[in-house]
Amino acid sequence: MARGIPPVSWLAAMACTATRVNASSTSKNPASQGLSRWVTTGGLSETPEELRAPRIVNWYDNGAHMIAYPVNDHLTSWAITTQEVESQETWRAMDEDAQQKIRDGPFSQWPYGAGKLVKSGTNIIKYGLYDRPELESWHKGRTVLLGDAAHPTSPHLGQGANQAFEDIYHLVRLLVKYNPEAGEPSTELLSEIFTEYESTRISRTSTLVKRAREQGEIRVVNGVEECKKRNDQLRTTQGPFSEEIYREIMQNPFEVGHSEVSI
Ligand SMILES: Cc1cc2nc3c(=O)[nH]c(=O)nc-3n(C[C@H](O)[C@H](O)[C@H](O)COP(=O)(O)OP(=O)(O)OC[C@H]3O[C@@H](n4cnc5c(N)ncnc54)[C@H](O)[C@@H]3O)c2cc1C
Repeated sequence: MARGIPPVSWLAAMACTATRVNASSTSKNPASQGLSRWVTTGGLSETPEELRAPRIVNWYDNGAHMIAYPVNDHLTSWAITTQEVESQETWRAMDEDAQQKIRDGPFSQWPYGAGKLVKSGTNIIKYGLYDRPELESWHKGRTVLLGDAAHPTSPHLGQGANQAFEDIYHLVRLLVKYNPEAGEPSTELLSEIFTEYESTRISRTSTLVKRAREQGEIRVVNGVEECKKRNDQLRTTQGPFSEEIYREIMQNPFEVGHSEVSI
């Protein structure tokens, strides 16, 4: 355990997969909003020759977007986002017939390695993308939220886990700062710590959740004119992989080589 960090017995850490909502429950759930019409179909495939270079690749079409990224030296994970009617989700691979339909379907004809990924896809699953209303506070009494439980996000900036790590860094930093002897903290002290943690984190995560939503809305559009507009946007700095956005995400809020948490 890191020096100066209090034991966790007093801290009820909560986490849940808030972005992974079962579609059947969302129709009854007024909290779902925004991207509920979007569905992602994802799978795992042997990396085809065209995609051997280790990089993230995006394909854009009318009403669809595909992303693929290597997960090791021979496997690639891929995900296609489309607009479809909501259906029951299981978070398990589809049955073999349904997987085969995807492998034989229109995405298997996409160029530049995309079709090859779809044709050879395994563990194909389908899940909805949902946005949740943002929370105004992440703590109550001796309990505090972090990660997806605090700020569930759509996946388009790849920031869910990254922001959870930033939460942890700041929470630990503040626990060490305000309770350096790692004593049993009072509820008042915890409230002070959690309030500062929240004020450091909420605006950053809120910005990234909104940006992720915007990126999603840019990527999947319908019709020739909308597609042209999207393609133009992708060529400018507003694109999802704009250097500016990523530099900002990577640099803040850390000072390179500096940590306030001593291990
Ligand atoms: C397809 C997909 C792709 C993603 N890609 C990226 C990416 O490229 N980059 C990125 O940064 N993020 C990505 N994310 C997001 C990332 O996975 C999450 O933001 C991150 O896992 C959140 O971490 P967490 O600890 O808050 O929650 P989780 O990882 O969801 O952990 C919560 C844990 O709590 C457990 N749990 C829930 N309820 C209970 C209970 N009652 N009792 C005990 N245990 C319980 C769950 O089983 C789970 O293990 C992606 C997510 C998905 C779905």
